[in-house]
Amino acid sequence: MSEVRVRGRAETGLKFHGETRALRVKMVLLGSSGVGKSSLALRFSKDEFKASAPTVGCAYLTQVVCLHDATLRFEIWDTAGQEKYHSVTPLYYRGAHAALVVYDITKRESFIRAQLWLKELEKQYIPGETEVVLVGNKMDLPDDREVSLQEGRSLAERGGLLFMETSAKSGEQMNELLLTIGSNPEHKIRIMQL
Ligand code: GDP
Repeated sequence: MSEVRVRGRAETGLKFHGETRALRVKMVLLGSSGVGKSSLALRFSKDEFKASAPTVGCAYLTQVVCLHDATLRFEIWDTAGQEKYHSVTPLYYRGAHAALVVYDITKRESFIRAQLWLKELEKQYIPGETEVVLVGNKMDLPDDREVSLQEGRSLAERGGLLFMETSAKSGEQMNELLLTIGSNPEHKIRIMQL
């Protein structure tokens, strides 16, 4: 089942097609090793943070989000550390409704790598299919910041992407991120553990 199409900002957001059951949203995490992809996945799915977050592995985590009258089942895919070996294949992100390209705001190198990921995604991009969000993680470490908020925002604007800074550690901006992906930010969301 894949009725959901998460579209660009200019469009209305989610199409529910009158469904009442949970609609599947495939969300993939991309970015350099150490930026916090597994931690973001863990925060999304279990609302937890572990200092040594194990990379999720080849499976995915899930989270059900109720957005007003619709129920979305997010499937959150982690790269399982494959980025270290440059072996993330397009199959991983093909068919994704949302792709989070993550960098660490305290590591400029990861911001540069994020730009390469964006180029990679662009090659595979099917207009209207994937909502791409540039995510600057670790916003709880302002003293170590190497990439300014404005730099992140400008990069996203240049590519017509959504943008958000987050902290998997404190949980800041995590619900907002789901809302940004899924729907109208004026609606409150209720997150339920599976
Ligand atoms: P991945 O390799 O991209 O999956 O990154 P991990 O999720 O394994 O995180 C790498 C390291 O960064 C771990 O030590 C995490 O505890 C830490 N980390 C992840 N997210 C955050 C965050 O938002 N804030 C802080 N301070 N540390 C984080």
